[in-house]
Amino acid sequence: MLDLWYKNAVIYSLNVATYKDGNGDGIGDFKGLTEQIDHMAQLGVNCLWLLPFYPSPGLDHGYDVTDYYNVAPSLGTLGDFVEFSHQARLRGLRLIVDLPINHTSEQHPWFQQARADPTSPYWDYYVWSKTEPESSTADLVFPGFQLSVWTYDLSAQAWYYHRFYQHQPDLNIGCPAVRDEIFKILGFWLELGVSGFRIDAAPFVVEEIRPDRPAKHRYEFFGELRDFLSWRKGDSVLLAEANVAPGEFDHYFGNGSRIHLLFAFLLNQHLFLALARETAEPLRSCLAALPQLPQFAQWAQFLRNHDELDLGRLTREERDDVYAAFAPRREMQLYGRGIRRRLACMLNNDRRRIELAFSLMFSLPGTPVVYYGDELGMGDDLMLPERWPVRTCMQWSDDKNGGFSASSGRLLHHMIGDGEYGPAKVNVIAQQRDPDSLFNWLRRLVEMRQSCPEIGWGALTLPESDCPAVLVQRFTWEGKSMITVHNLSQAQCNPRINDLPGGRRLTDVFGNRIYASKAESDAAIELDGFGYRWFRID
Ligand code: MG
Repeated sequence: MLDLWYKNAVIYSLNVATYKDGNGDGIGDFKGLTEQIDHMAQLGVNCLWLLPFYPSPGLDHGYDVTDYYNVAPSLGTLGDFVEFSHQARLRGLRLIVDLPINHTSEQHPWFQQARADPTSPYWDYYVWSKTEPESSTADLVFPGFQLSVWTYDLSAQAWYYHRFYQHQPDLNIGCPAVRDEIFKILGFWLELGVSGFRIDAAPFVVEEIRPDRPAKHRYEFFGELRDFLSWRKGDSVLLAEANVAPGEFDHYFGNGSRIHLLFAFLLNQHLFLALARETAEPLRSCLAALPQLPQFAQWAQFLRNHDELDLGRLTREERDDVYAAFAPRREMQLYGRGIRRRLACMLNNDRRRIELAFSLMFSLPGTPVVYYGDELGMGDDLMLPERWPVRTCMQWSDDKNGGFSASSGRLLHHMIGDGEYGPAKVNVIAQQRDPDSLFNWLRRLVEMRQSCPEIGWGALTLPESDCPAVLVQRFTWEGKSMITVHNLSQAQCNPRINDLPGGRRLTDVFGNRIYASKAESDAAIELDGFGYRWFRID
């Protein structure tokens, strides 16, 4: 039998620099991360996705890399990484590392050598134009914060292409030597114990920019990466960040021969629309329209991540509804398309809605990904620029610096101060002690999800109910079957569910509380406002 571990995993995403400072210099590091590894093991997740930890000037949260074969000195050494990787493996935790290969930092030696000498072998690593390209202000990733995608370099006497910030020149995927470098980077980290790679900005990675002709898409490169992984370490995976239209999914999955896991951006946006409108329809129609995935492919489901909540695939009217519900003030919004807030803040710290959102996300077809701090209901700081409000330091205790660092000086990254979301109110130690905390509730959800392989592996159908606020999902796999029922509305209801096999008994396995009513398949199911219930069908 195939053991595709990623189909039934729960992934936890974190940034080493903001997680735990082990040496007291005010910056999180691998020593601190290793010390806190039991927190992740306790939560029950079985895969960690580490945001970039490579040497970097730090102008884009580490996504501007100067050396792909090393650890940033402020975070530790390769030795510290290997020690961490070993400790993770002892606890059954796999590692996925972030791979920002669409671009490098302008400080990367490759770019420095290229701009200094057009005859250097590194010239072709980047995308140049000797004449000023047309439409240099089109296709900006950070509108309002980025002026163009071509910038003139005085030293090279040419324009270079940068899909992201000016300090991040794009690598030229059309250059065979660049593709070879990428394989070498993969091979290097596989040897140090990682089980996969998150491909940052995947659509742009495979876009070959040619200044005088239309861009060419090298989607087959994903298949080449997959083949490389298969030969080197058969159970390692590719997790792609690609917020693309449904018509493009197959370029990524390649009928099961390319990307293993694709972030479900489309479902994520419709999940928040459904929460905002308190109706199941947006999620239901989005789920119904998803293609059947090939056996080796999987969705990665999430609520929030380290970026803005991107609503770019909703209509103007839909987006406005989500803004009105969860980000009514201008400073909560970003790039004209998204929301720069943490989950708990968007949901007004309403425990019922936070649970509903998590339970929904964990029951969508795919593999759940949890963003660090959301397991506690951590808050954000809107005083910080762009995407930084959701990237504050982890809150371990109510001690100095929230237990994040023993430093008596300034922390490199921001820590939430006082108030509803400060470490005095929200921290790991307090929540570990409290059996009713969000952390302990989420532990149970993680455990429940892992004992429901039907959701990760099974076929999804969407039975109708007579209540428009209720989303009903049914999963069937290897003769087993379960249904999950979520009430998006604050009003209590008793939906009747159609299309359930007659006379079968539903057994409660998880819910927002213990319901006294015995739900039979032919009876109405009792559901609180924002309530949720998971059942096995006997
Ligand atoms: Mg440190």
